[in-house]
This record gives sequence, structure tokens and C-alpha cells, in this order.
Amino acid sequence: MASYNIIALLTCAINYLNSVNGSNPTLNDVLFSGVYEFIDLTFPFDKNTIYWPNMDQFAFTKMNEAFRSDGSWYAANNFAAGEHGGTHIDAPYHFKVDGLRVGNIPLDKLIVPLIIVDISSKVNDDPSFVLQKYHLDYMLNDNWGKPCVIVFKFGWSKFFYDRNKYLGVQPNGTFHFPGLSAEVAEWITSSHKNVVGIGVDTGSVDPGSSTDFPVHKIASAAGLYNIENVKLDVPVPDRGCTALILPMKIALGTGAPLRLVAICPKQTPTHF
Ligand SMILES: [Zn+2]
Repeated sequence: MASYNIIALLTCAINYLNSVNGSNPTLNDVLFSGVYEFIDLTFPFDKNTIYWPNMDQFAFTKMNEAFRSDGSWYAANNFAAGEHGGTHIDAPYHFKVDGLRVGNIPLDKLIVPLIIVDISSKVNDDPSFVLQKYHLDYMLNDNWGKPCVIVFKFGWSKFFYDRNKYLGVQPNGTFHFPGLSAEVAEWITSSHKNVVGIGVDTGSVDPGSSTDFPVHKIASAAGLYNIENVKLDVPVPDRGCTALILPMKIALGTGAPLRLVAICPKQTPTHF
């Protein structure tokens, strides 16, 4: 029923636009037909933003904020931050010496279909959960075809504003939060070569307790980027959205703060 609805809506919108324009619809015609919505999957950058250890926190310094003598307003600030904090991208260079830097990741790998894999009911708030291939049996034969980014939803965004809980900070300072197994990273990079990036709603694609970061290494070796601390505390269709993965273009960056937006059909589609 849902698929009929969405197809009927799209057909209707496109037919209407064709009749108005007398030509094929532009992307603007489609995006602003009322069928799509824009969903922000980005945490704000402020004093609460979680950074990886040894990274500088987000520092926001007010420089000018005042009415001038002529009554006009002028405001301008400084900011500084590590690359790996908040919603951000890891460039392949992060874990591969000849991998791409942030500034060189091509746009056709950053504007791609978005697949959300919601495993939060399996995780059930367990920080020890590690995603194995058998958890994904139901989708092993999916053929996504097009280039895409795949984002795993562990259900962790709700803890973002409690750093100790989100990272699972232990008495000795180590971390404990869920993540992907090396097996899953191998499966994605070997069986689904159309996947251009891997995302998570936790602080790292590797589990918090990892010290050798195999998922980072496997993804980087295959030329994939990671997106971490994805804000997934709002409903997002698991299929049918387009991701705009737009990091700050830090030319030599190993990573960068990211504005992540999904463009999604308002009615849940049944296909990719
Ligand atoms: Zn990172």
C-alpha cells in the first residue's frame, strides 16, 4: 500500500510539473514538490560536543558582539576544534598512509543514497554489544546496486549529552560502547563494493573497548570513509533517503566536522 502511495504521489507530482513546464522536471521541481523533507542528522557544535581523547574540544570564543556607535549590530567569533568530535567524518587517510584526505573525497561519494540499519532492538542499550554478521542475516542478500552509505543505528544518540554514559567511561579511563566487528567490516568491503562509507550513532565504528581499531583499518584500506556520532534520535526511513555528507573541506584533514542531512520521502518507500 505504501509503495502504491509513494509512486502515485511521485507520478502525480511529476505529471503536474511536466504539464506546467512542458519539459522534464528539474531536481528543484522534484525536491520542492512537497513529497520530500530534509532531516538534520547532525549534533550541534558547542561546549557539550563529545571529542575523542587527546583532541581539542570545540572552543568558541566571542570576539565582537555589540551595537556600534551608529546603532548597527556587528558580531563575529572565533572557533577551534579537533577533527574527530561531534558528528564528523573520518577520511581514509586517518588509518591508511596513502588514503584520501578530507579535501580530496569526491562529491559523488558524499551525495549518495542512505541506508539505515536499525539494530537498536538487538543492542537493547547494552554497551558490550558487538555487531556480528549473523545479526544481519536478513539483509545479506540485499542488492543495493547504487553507491551508498550505510549507517548502523545502535540506539546510542539518546546518551550523547551524558559523556560518561555515551562513551561508557571506565574508572581507568577506557571506553565501553557498542560497535561493529571486523567480520562485518570485511563483509561490507568485500561483498558490497558499492558502499562508499560506514556510519554509526556512537563515537566510533569500532567498539569503545577496541585498542587496535580493525574496522577503521579495514574501511580505510578499502577507500571507505566513516561518519561517527550520527544524530539518529529522530525517525528516518531506512530506505529511500539521499544523504548529503558535507564535511568542512579541510584540505589535508584526517577528519572534519560534518553537516549531515538526509533528504527523505515523506511517505516511507519500500525500495532503495
Ligand atoms: Zn573520527
